[in-house]
Amino acid sequence: MTTNSCGDCALCCGYVTVETEDPTSIEDVDHLLWLLAHKNIQLFVDDGLYVQFITPCKHQDGKCAIYPNRPDICMDYGLDACETSGKDKRIYLKDHKELLSYIKEHKHDLWQEVKDKRQLA
Ligand code: SF4
Ligand code: SF4
Repeated sequence: MTTNSCGDCALCCGYVTVETEDPTSIEDVDHLLWLLAHKNIQLFVDDGLYVQFITPCKHQDGKCAIYPNRPDICMDYGLDACETSGKDKRIYLKDHKELLSYIKEHKHDLWQEVKDKRQLA
């Protein structure tokens, strides 16, 4: 995050992520819907499912104020993985509609259960 090659970009200093379980049940889906009901929270899928909390780092002030001593996770985040590189394959799920569409497309059995419970078309 925020290497010398980043210029003015500080995109990845503007959120934190926590990996979560892939949904396999109605209860899992309900939990994700609850998360997505909150402001500044979205999900994304790449090598797993992540909850993304949109919240700026306290040390970001145009540039990283603690650059030599920034946490390892910041040091290890390479430009290869960054979302501005064009290699980013994340699927973002920003609201209930996007989550339900994702389940419909990628998890057919679970979608049948969700659809029946929520009386969706
Ligand atoms: S999103 Fe990419 S370019 Fe932007 S600060 Fe993070 S690593 Fe640098
Ligand atoms: S510590 Fe520095 S590099 Fe890490 S998220 Fe904060 S501003 Fe960005």
